[in-house]
Amino acid sequence: MRSRVAYDKVFEKIWAASGGWAVIMCPCGIVYSIKCNLRAESPRDFADMLLSWKHLPNVVIYDFARGLSTHTNLRQPITFTPFEGRLLEPTTENIAKAKSGKLQVTLPWLTAKKQSPDPDGHPITGSAEHYVLYDRFHEDNTKDPRDSLRKLRLVPQLAGKVNSQAAEQLFSKLKKNNYFMNMALPSTHVFLMRNIIHHYNVRKNEKRLHDIKKEFNTNIHMNDHSQVVLENPSSTEKCMDMSLGPLTALPKIL
Ligand SMILES: [Zn+2]
Repeated sequence: MRSRVAYDKVFEKIWAASGGWAVIMCPCGIVYSIKCNLRAESPRDFADMLLSWKHLPNVVIYDFARGLSTHTNLRQPITFTPFEGRLLEPTTENIAKAKSGKLQVTLPWLTAKKQSPDPDGHPITGSAEHYVLYDRFHEDNTKDPRDSLRKLRLVPQLAGKVNSQAAEQLFSKLKKNNYFMNMALPSTHVFLMRNIIHHYNVRKNEKRLHDIKKEFNTNIHMNDHSQVVLENPSSTEKCMDMSLGPLTALPKIL
């Protein structure tokens, strides 16, 4: 935090907002983890949640990407690797290229599983690489030139395709519950929030399934990973609430 004033402002925003919930979502809007925070939010809360997952997502998009990477790697060395979760080695040349906007880093396994999966790779992508990136709204949160290699838009598979604002959209929906949530006892508050998020996830998936059926007008089924698969084998798999967790995750404070 740059100054005490800025810190207080953010702190106030977090608490005034909804009592300090940290969430990790898939960009499609499904909430995978929620944590009720008793103290001011920090990367620690997101590391707690991410480290509890069976399969860490290959790409994490976070407002303070660098802090999350450093903290997580201190707790569990080489979690975010290669290059501490940066897309390329932070050489002067790579940094200059990233800054000039001429750099692209393709992560082809985000669209098609690796032919020969890495040991301990994510079951859906086959990749064991783990990146922590900034979306375009938070690129300026870091002053370290090496972190220009953490820009989401360097990855063509993600640039313009990922709704990095999913958490903000969830938050604006949840805000309308504040009038009764803020009156509730802490235990009731936690219980209600857990329930509301569950129903939100179920409805979100039902709507998605309905939209996919309507759009493709064909039979669909679920694969082993609870992903929706169209009957046409050449079609791409659509993200649904996957038992394995998302490939791209958005940790956010609500
Ligand atoms: Zn999803």
